[in-house]
Amino acid sequence: MEELKKNAQEQYIPIIRDETAKALINVCKKYNPLKVLEIGTAIGYSGLLILGNCDCKLTTIEKDGVRLALARENFKKYGQIERVQLLEGDAKDILEMLVKKQEKYQLIFLDGAKGQYIHYYQNIKLLLANGGILFADNVLLQGMVNMKGEIPHKHRSMVVNMRKFLERLKLDRDYQTEIYQVEDGYSISKLELK
Ligand code: SAH
Ligand code: MG
Repeated sequence: MEELKKNAQEQYIPIIRDETAKALINVCKKYNPLKVLEIGTAIGYSGLLILGNCDCKLTTIEKDGVRLALARENFKKYGQIERVQLLEGDAKDILEMLVKKQEKYQLIFLDGAKGQYIHYYQNIKLLLANGGILFADNVLLQGMVNMKGEIPHKHRSMVVNMRKFLERLKLDRDYQTEIYQVEDGYSISKLELK
């Protein structure tokens, strides 16, 4: 895994940070989800962490075909490929497809494009089993989410969308949410449908 981490860093692929990874591992161990959905595979680093810490089958979504091919190699290399379904495409479309198929997951790891989390909100809720966990990474966007004043134009819509996502989570009575101000920030929400 250290080698994989180095690989990713050399290619400037932003993989899950260490403390956040520990929290994700704890969730896996605590709930032992049997079906996990990951949005944003990259090269399979976080996916392998999940697979290594519960008995799940993993469905993972990635729009970049080159990365997905690397991920497939890595899942093979670590003997996990049989437990993984790799789906190539835009998460928005794939989530819709999974909803149509009435799939349910006990854990969803949300780690794709940061400006898109809000757009996945409703479909994620439909895909999460009651009692399931939504773990969202990078929710503080290097401090920009809590920053007062003007956000640089380049990041503005992403930050605004992330704020909307967090507000909606906090206000949603079907979720119990904790936001952790650690590393790039992550949130853990438990779904308990009212
Ligand atoms: N979860 C990985 C890191 C994911 S980085 C880990 O921690 O190891 C985010 C990934 O999301 C990138 O590989 C990027 O290509 C992918 N991505 C970005 N927008 C996407 C979209 N709209 N649909 C699917 N994947 C997307
Ligand atoms: Mg991340």
